[in-house]
Amino acid sequence: MEQFDYIIVGAGSAGCVLAERLSADGRHNVLLLEAGGTDRRFDVRVPIGYGRLFHDPSVNWRFRSEPEPGLDGRAIYWPRGKLLGGSSAINAMVYIRGLPGDFADWQAAGNPGWGPAEAAAAFERMERRIGAGGTPTGAGALWVSDCAAQYHKLGRHYLAAAQEAGFPPGDTVSAEGVGPYALTTRRGRRHSAADAFLRPALRRRNLRLVTAAEVLGATLDGLRATGVRYRRHGQLHEARCRAEVVLSAGAVKSPQLLQLSGIGPGALLASMGIEVVRDAPGVGGALQDHLGMTYAFRASEPSLNQVLGRFRGKAAAALRYVLFRDGPFSLGVNQMGGMVRSDPGLPRADIQLYCNPLSYSTVYRNRRPLLAPDPWPGFCIGFNPCRPTSRGRIDIASPDPHAAPLIVPNSLSTDTDIALMLAGARVVERLLETEAMRGLVTAANGFSPAAQTDAAILADIRARAGTVYHPCGTCRMAPAVAGGVVDPALRVHGVAGLRVADASIFPNITSANTNAPTLMVAMKAADIILGG
Ligand SMILES: Cc1cc2nc3c(=O)[nH]c(=O)nc-3n(C[C@H](O)[C@H](O)[C@H](O)COP(=O)(O)OP(=O)(O)OC[C@H]3O[C@@H](n4cnc5c(N)ncnc54)[C@H](O)[C@@H]3O)c2cc1C
Repeated sequence: MEQFDYIIVGAGSAGCVLAERLSADGRHNVLLLEAGGTDRRFDVRVPIGYGRLFHDPSVNWRFRSEPEPGLDGRAIYWPRGKLLGGSSAINAMVYIRGLPGDFADWQAAGNPGWGPAEAAAAFERMERRIGAGGTPTGAGALWVSDCAAQYHKLGRHYLAAAQEAGFPPGDTVSAEGVGPYALTTRRGRRHSAADAFLRPALRRRNLRLVTAAEVLGATLDGLRATGVRYRRHGQLHEARCRAEVVLSAGAVKSPQLLQLSGIGPGALLASMGIEVVRDAPGVGGALQDHLGMTYAFRASEPSLNQVLGRFRGKAAAALRYVLFRDGPFSLGVNQMGGMVRSDPGLPRADIQLYCNPLSYSTVYRNRRPLLAPDPWPGFCIGFNPCRPTSRGRIDIASPDPHAAPLIVPNSLSTDTDIALMLAGARVVERLLETEAMRGLVTAANGFSPAAQTDAAILADIRARAGTVYHPCGTCRMAPAVAGGVVDPALRVHGVAGLRVADASIFPNITSANTNAPTLMVAMKAADIILGG
């Protein structure tokens, strides 16, 4: 049987960092197992391919939540990456660390060593920020590019509206304030965790990557992990570890794998016929996510719809991309945004904004769902509350490891979250009431929050809001007595040789997008593991 020092499950955002870090000094043999396959394809490389990856089953787990009582009983689509790079290879590439207060909250939840200073130090080690003129700051592996000069000119109205409405500008990477978003791209190409961390490390002889390897669970000797079982092309395999198994399968699959291994809510596991190794009710619990709402408008001037929605526009953009590697094909759809305070008296930003210079809907081509631009000049303004308080659960639905787990987000299950969604809609209303926006918007394309009652806004939110793809917290880092699953060294409470390092360990959701903080978790996890 194959033996390694470390076995990492999942080559996503976190797993790629861990594989690079744990193999760097050549002392340890590392096995990285990934259920998905290659990321060497056009739609992954070229940033605008985002819309095609969104539903593509060859690179996407395509989960769905249970019907949500707070969202009119709707079951919400949950894309997750299933390929090298994981969700960082299919995401919208917006790079935001989160606010320092987020990590103060992590520390205060019983996690020494995870405060704002420690988080900032890890971010700085992994980032190479590319300024407007192409000048790099930092020597990290991950390219974080300032693409503002490339963004569609329609975005200038959003920046003017924010200023008029009293929302100050800021560096969206590390602080609150409004501005253009920085992207994880490198010279016009997506720079996923696989590009930044894994690919260079694969030259090392002590790192072995196996794709199409779906891990079924950890093997345990009493309360010690000894390895994993996985299936590849229909064949069952087992790999053993001398030191540790690290689960980096993401916020949906890491708790599922723990439960399948007998670590989870005892009664649930017993009801599924799974031997209970450790009764840990917190496994799968404490799920958090950002609930997002988008409003679409028709514009008085051309938007990206007139480029990406027309053959000639698309052909010109494609040619430009081939010749210069810039233009719309080199960018994501979320171009502007920022974090703002819905009430200036608040101590921290509570609403994250998005302004996309295009509007789109899901269309079907050859029965394949795709995101396609609307035929008229249009754009979107969206928002999500930064720190929602609703928590849900992810639990196995069956002892079959190939069955999707039950995702129960419990969206809008607290009064605070309802108030936050209304506050976000009122922020959008404030933007719409500015001169800058009045000159741009010719009509709402659907519901607009302007001059509406709270009841009407909430009804629309319940009818249309959905995930912005940031699930976390399902293997929460917190003391066991507080329902935590891992300790501050990311060791599973009560089980030796088993850690979790990915978005599932977040003690609380960060104020904005979750890729950067997930990479930071993995950087710190590697330090902790190598430090003994
Ligand atoms: C559509 C979309 C858009 C997003 N946009 C942004 C954005 O613009 N900015 C941002 O910051 N964040 C964004 N996010 C969120 C961000 O990408 C994630 O928070 C982050 O990538 C999570 O990293 P992870 O390591 O926890 O999980 P993942 O990156 O999802 O990695 C988990 C990996 O484990 C593998 N795996 C799972 N189960 C098994 C198994 N049993 N055996 C073997 N391998 C397994 C998966 O295939 C996957 O490769 C987006 C996410 C999505 C889905």
